[in-house]
Amino acid sequence: MRSITPQPGIMDIALYQGGQSHLAGVDHVLKLSSNENPLGAPASAIKALSEAAVGMHLYPPTDHAALRDAIGDVWEVDPDRVICGVGSDEVLQFVTQAFSGPGDEIIYTEHGFSMYPILTSMAGATRVCVPEVERVVDVDAILSAVTDRTRVVLLANPANPTGTMLPEGELERLADALPSYVILVIDGAYAEFAAGYDGGISLAKDRDNVLVTRTFSKIYGLGGLRVGWGYGPQQMIDVMTRIRQPFNLSVVQLAAAEAAVRDRNWVKQCAMLNLEQRARLTGAVRQLGLACDESHANFVLARAADSHEADAAEAALNAAGILVRRVAGYGFPEGLRITVGDAEQTGRVIDALTKWREGAAA
Ligand SMILES: *Cc1c(COP(=O)(O)O)cnc(C)c1O
Repeated sequence: MRSITPQPGIMDIALYQGGQSHLAGVDHVLKLSSNENPLGAPASAIKALSEAAVGMHLYPPTDHAALRDAIGDVWEVDPDRVICGVGSDEVLQFVTQAFSGPGDEIIYTEHGFSMYPILTSMAGATRVCVPEVERVVDVDAILSAVTDRTRVVLLANPANPTGTMLPEGELERLADALPSYVILVIDGAYAEFAAGYDGGISLAKDRDNVLVTRTFSKIYGLGGLRVGWGYGPQQMIDVMTRIRQPFNLSVVQLAAAEAAVRDRNWVKQCAMLNLEQRARLTGAVRQLGLACDESHANFVLARAADSHEADAAEAALNAAGILVRRVAGYGFPEGLRITVGDAEQTGRVIDALTKWREGAAA
């Protein structure tokens, strides 16, 4: 008898592991495990959302025109070349699903975002994971992995969980060297935290093989709202739009995201806070004898001597009511990814780690 069978690739998917949000016995945990905004959601977005809620008996627009126009204004891009999704995860799903399938290959890198292998298998495509060099994406390793079957390259810049970044020259070299049938996706979830970086938008402007993705989940403080967007060549956007559900974004999502993207003071304020506290946290972590690359995002990756030392550091943080992210699944069993909080929160992290080191030395 023939059985009900899922599509190829689906059973290879291990469920996504989100950052922990609860600690047994602690009422007010400090959650630094998911790179959320320590300042919360912007007041402008909360207000827009409440106002839009009055109209939620009506279906939302299918074209996202107002939100795309706002994105176009702020980033100086053609709104017709913007596509909006339920988080940037959905935009990444559009591109992988629309342009690859069984027999095709998707390339991502050693410490790449954990959604990339999941998205590859969702599309039924084959996972091709290439090495990095010292926790930095290696353009040559990507290029040498390209075959006739390659359809998409997925990379985050700045990267998660390493926080490292490819200089724009390297991104450009990659975009230029890839064969014409391969799409380069530059995931800019953390672009706003990298001073002076446009997230690859200028690179995408005149090329027909580059898609940039962005999110409202990180610097905008709207992770719970679920809105992201992509910017790419017109033909690519038109293809992806065909598989986008017409009502994928609700009236409240659209209204809140539009208000947030226009709230430039908010973004500036969040970026400044992050810059300050990231430098402080990086310095303290290194001082305490944990390895830590320069981060260009809103988290740092602290690396202990081994997984046991990382266990001990995590236990000390947990005892202080602080949650961070273990990243063994990303190839760092010795790693702790710590979201950069505000001044008080960063102080708590540093205190907990300092006490842990003092206790271990005693
Ligand atoms: C957080 C994150 C995203 C954003 O996902 P959303 O679906 O927009 O919330 C995308 N890429 C990377 C690398 C991330 O860390």
